[in-house]
Amino acid sequence: MSSSSDTSLPRGMLFDMDGTLTEPMLDFPRIKSEMGIGQRPILEALAEMDERRRAEAQAILHRHEEAAARCSVLNPGCRDLLDDLITRGINTALITRNSRVSVETVLQRHALSISVLVSREDAVPKPDPAPLRLACQRLGIAEAEAWMVGDGQYDVEAGNAAGIRTVWVSLGRVRNFDAHPWREVRDLHELRQMLAVQH
Ligand SMILES: [Mg+2]
Repeated sequence: MSSSSDTSLPRGMLFDMDGTLTEPMLDFPRIKSEMGIGQRPILEALAEMDERRRAEAQAILHRHEEAAARCSVLNPGCRDLLDDLITRGINTALITRNSRVSVETVLQRHALSISVLVSREDAVPKPDPAPLRLACQRLGIAEAEAWMVGDGQYDVEAGNAAGIRTVWVSLGRVRNFDAHPWREVRDLHELRQMLAVQH
């Protein structure tokens, strides 16, 4: 049986942060405009800059990330879902393209406990599968025993590339990218219901 049809409960759940656990908190068009990188993805544009320009652009990104983290709001159902996972003995990881400091700000602000954190300082960022594989390794589970949950194209691409069952959180949007998630839910309430009917 292929993993795509496997509906067994995961041993570990990997989450994206911005837009998934929290309400979307970064104003990407504004950040990109201040950084002067056009429409290009932020981390990839940073990687191509010379040292001086990169330092300036990173300062802009950090300022936005920190301000957003301090005002972050959890998505509906987040706390109930994380409580359910604890009850079921399913460990959690957070995988983000954001900085480690902004992750810690969000977790402290909402008193969330997540077993494993993988930020952009730890691995090549999504859509590369490396941070998802690292999270599985740190959780002590195989990729086939994990679910990846995220609201973005990179989450689905990274999950598929890692061979992980990936749940796309649509937030009511129509999917506008090619990568096919294993499952689609509207929000974390629906993901919680999905878990409740698994064995
Ligand atoms: Mg996201």
